[in-house]
Amino acid sequence: GAGGEPSKECPILVAVRVRPRNEKELASGDPPCVRVLSRSHLCISKNEGVNQYLNSQRGRVNDYEFDVVFDETATQAEVYQRSTQPRVASVLDGYSLTVFAYGATGSGKTHSMFVLTLPLLLYCGTAQVYNDRLYDLLSPGDGAPLRIREDARRGVTEVAGLTRRRVSSAAEALECISEGNHNRRVGSTAHNSVSSRSHAILQVHVRSDGVQECSAVMSLVDLAGSERAGAAAKDRQRLTEASHINQSLLALGNCINALSGEGDAQCQAKYRDSKLTHLLKGSLEGHCSVVMIVAVAPCSGTYEDSHNALKYANRAK
Ligand code: ADP
Ligand code: MG
Repeated sequence: GAGGEPSKECPILVAVRVRPRNEKELASGDPPCVRVLSRSHLCISKNEGVNQYLNSQRGRVNDYEFDVVFDETATQAEVYQRSTQPRVASVLDGYSLTVFAYGATGSGKTHSMFVLTLPLLLYCGTAQVYNDRLYDLLSPGDGAPLRIREDARRGVTEVAGLTRRRVSSAAEALECISEGNHNRRVGSTAHNSVSSRSHAILQVHVRSDGVQECSAVMSLVDLAGSERAGAAAKDRQRLTEASHINQSLLALGNCINALSGEGDAQCQAKYRDSKLTHLLKGSLEGHCSVVMIVAVAPCSGTYEDSHNALKYANRAK
């Protein structure tokens, strides 16, 4: 069931969050194209605004059902409580938990990622994947990319040499995230808005020493903007970025489909198709739990991006 204990049958929870219209969107009069109909049901329609379609020609809207749907009034606490919180405790039972924020730039991914509240003794490290290369976000250093290390015995994949900080409160964990986000933004001015063109990954390592030692990883992944590169993107750098983002989001989709039981058996090999899936291999295999929060902007002007995000989410169910 939605938000319940993860099981081998249903390790994935898909939540969609529609953000409120911002001042600019309200001022422009761009009508909403998305309407939330219930706690698990929404619809989207093109061009003239969803409300008009709902009032007149009901058949022409696209309906979608997800485990959880949040409308624009949802608070941060509610989003956390109905998507991630029910699964956090399972990390202590050795389930790796991975939370993704998927959506176009400006749809509310980063905003929705501030959900971490673990008063535990933990180690935090944060990295970003840009153009299929891994960078440390806590100590950017000389900017040299890092490598992935696979430990088959422990069943984990991790970033070799990633800076890890011991945190003992939610506040310290949030400080870690802020510092990572700050370094991501600093990089942005040099690399031309890298922040929406890279995946940011915060990993929290949980070790509990009971009778049987178990270790699990909680990963919070703020994915690169899923919007299509404009057909007119002449810039070579943009095209390279877009192709890396497309490849990694596709690889991620394939691995998630395999988890939900509909993918093909070749997924094992596909983890290595991108740094993102390779890094998360240990967290997406075996005892795992996945929360996908799909962020959606509400207006007609971004209809294509929003609808594409819903289709991606629909395949992940
Ligand atoms: P993304 O990371 O997907 O590019 P952001 O999370 O940065 O998007 O959100 C874009 C802007 O919209 C930010 O200014 C953010 O504060 C605002 N925003 C996003 N979601 C919400 C929300 N649910 N409520 C209020 N403001 C939001
Ligand atoms: Mg962002």
